[in-house]
Amino acid sequence: MSSTPAPNPDPALFLDRDGVINIDHGYVGTRDRFEFIPGAREAIAFATAQGWRVFVVTNQSGIARGHYTEADVHALHAWMIAEIAAAGGRIDDIRFCPFHPQAKLEKYRRISDWRKPAPGMILDILRAWNLNPVNALLIGDQTIDLQAAAAAGIRGEKFPGGDLEKFLRPLLWCAGQESVITDTP
Ligand SMILES: [Mg+2]
Repeated sequence: MSSTPAPNPDPALFLDRDGVINIDHGYVGTRDRFEFIPGAREAIAFATAQGWRVFVVTNQSGIARGHYTEADVHALHAWMIAEIAAAGGRIDDIRFCPFHPQAKLEKYRRISDWRKPAPGMILDILRAWNLNPVNALLIGDQTIDLQAAAAAGIRGEKFPGGDLEKFLRPLLWCAGQESVITDTP
C-alpha cells in the first residue's frame, strides 16, 4: 500500500531570529552583539513544555556582505541553543540563508528561494520533519516573514515588540486547538 509515512502530529513553531529572539542590532553574527529579546527564552521554554517543536528561520545576508562567516553563525547558534536550553527551551532545528542578490562575496551572490520573503527555509523544515502545515505557526517582526509564511501555506503572526512570552502564550494556546485549525486559510 502507500509508503507515505503518517505526518508528524507535533505543532510547529517557526521563529524569525533578529527582532524576535534577539534584539535586531543589525547584522548580528557574534555573541558580543547578541542580546535576547525580553521573554524570548521563557517563550521558547513555554512552547517546548506545551509540546511544540521550535524552529528558527533567519536571513543572514551579513554573511554575503562579509560582516561575518557561516562558521560564526554556527558558533553563535550553538551558544544561543545552549542558553535557551538552560532556560528549559529546545530549538529543534535552524535554517539560515547566507545569500543576497548583491552580495559582496561572489560565492553568496544569488537569488535564493531560501531568502525570505521566499518560503524555502520553512518548506525545507516542513519536509525534513514531515510536519503538517496546518499545525504550524510562524512569528516574525517584518512583513517578509509573514509573506514567507503565507507562501509556505502556514499561519503567520507579526511580533510587535515587547515581551515575547506575553505575546506568544495566548497564540500557542489557540494554535494547538482544533477550532483554530479550521480557521487556517
Ligand atoms: Mg526579523
